[in-house]
Amino acid sequence: MKTMIKCGKLFAGKDGSVQENVAVVIDGNRIEAVIPQAQAAGFEGNVIDLGDRFVMPGLIDTHLHTAYDGQPGCMDTQFNWLAGDFAFMSMVNAKKDLMAGFTTVRDEGSYGFVDVSLRNAINEGIVDGPRMFVSGRPLGTTGGHSDSHMNPDITGVTTMGLISDGVDGAMRNARYTLKYGADQIKLMATGGVMSVGDEPGAPDFTYEEMKAAIDVANSRGRLSSAHAHGAVGIKNAIRAGITSIEHGMMMDEECIDMMVEHGTYLVPTIVAAYKIVENGDSLPQEAVEKAKKCLENHGRNLERCREKGVKIAFGTDAGTYYNFHGTQTCEFGLMQKYGKFSVAESLLAATKTASELLRWNDRIGSVEAGKLADIVAFNESPFDDISTMERCSFVMKDGVVYKNI
Ligand SMILES: [Zn+2]
Repeated sequence: MKTMIKCGKLFAGKDGSVQENVAVVIDGNRIEAVIPQAQAAGFEGNVIDLGDRFVMPGLIDTHLHTAYDGQPGCMDTQFNWLAGDFAFMSMVNAKKDLMAGFTTVRDEGSYGFVDVSLRNAINEGIVDGPRMFVSGRPLGTTGGHSDSHMNPDITGVTTMGLISDGVDGAMRNARYTLKYGADQIKLMATGGVMSVGDEPGAPDFTYEEMKAAIDVANSRGRLSSAHAHGAVGIKNAIRAGITSIEHGMMMDEECIDMMVEHGTYLVPTIVAAYKIVENGDSLPQEAVEKAKKCLENHGRNLERCREKGVKIAFGTDAGTYYNFHGTQTCEFGLMQKYGKFSVAESLLAATKTASELLRWNDRIGSVEAGKLADIVAFNESPFDDISTMERCSFVMKDGVVYKNI
């Protein structure tokens, strides 16, 4: 039986416009047509009345970690949790993302290939969750962002990162990660905010190391993404052919020009730094100071990126400290505050542009005939109040309704 969703307002995700009083006809898991409600008289099938709501394509978060739940200290679990512990945690977090309106997420690094397993389990209908695009284990360098800083006599797997020094190491681990089912290669190009002992501005990988890993990804038609804050690491990653720069909180003007020239995507994850600063009293001061510095630069740079036409995809780093799954939709408001994004620009970043980044724009990212029926709704219009994005009231993924309140 077909389903028809009556939409009070519809943001289809093709451009910035909002249509009124249209209906979306769904056949199975696909959108069959978007028609004026006046033409829908006599429809025989299941009718979902969202006539008083703001309807849009399912949201896409292109940067989060299902293995972390956002509790301060949650990253310490890496030292004693089993893969099964991470699997249950990831399953619960992914469900929270789905219920907040994210029908697709990109996991930017996990433990023991748990993200691969969860993606498969969701696709097979074993558990509920968003459609997932996964990284498996990220590649990093000795002493870099994804290394642990334990006693040197403690060896073995002590972190999510695969230590990949040198061109050979980078190539081998890129192949290894793809072998076990990752959809892309994630590289830790520079230091991080929460990782103690490294500098967000300093490069970890060399150009040659990144090029080697990215060539492996490209040769198999896969994506690559780089955690990168400092300008040198960002430029190395762009030159090496990276698909997306994650965070990019300490970029310079040349980075912005290079991203435009190379068509590189930027995933800003403003909320990750914002939450650390907001909860600064209870966190290591080294991390808080790093986050403050990053956030100040970030707002200014994002305005320049927007003005110059950098492709910006929505992403939040949900799972990092105080950045809880299911609450990361506050990123929409932060995009206005830092970077002066219009409402339409921020919605497009989480739909159209995010789907293009994942190269899944043939199936998701907009509400139009032929696309998968991933549709969400909010009680008010974000054009009136952007905080409504934090209160998703309807979720359909693949034609199945998971939430309607
Ligand atoms: Zn991350």
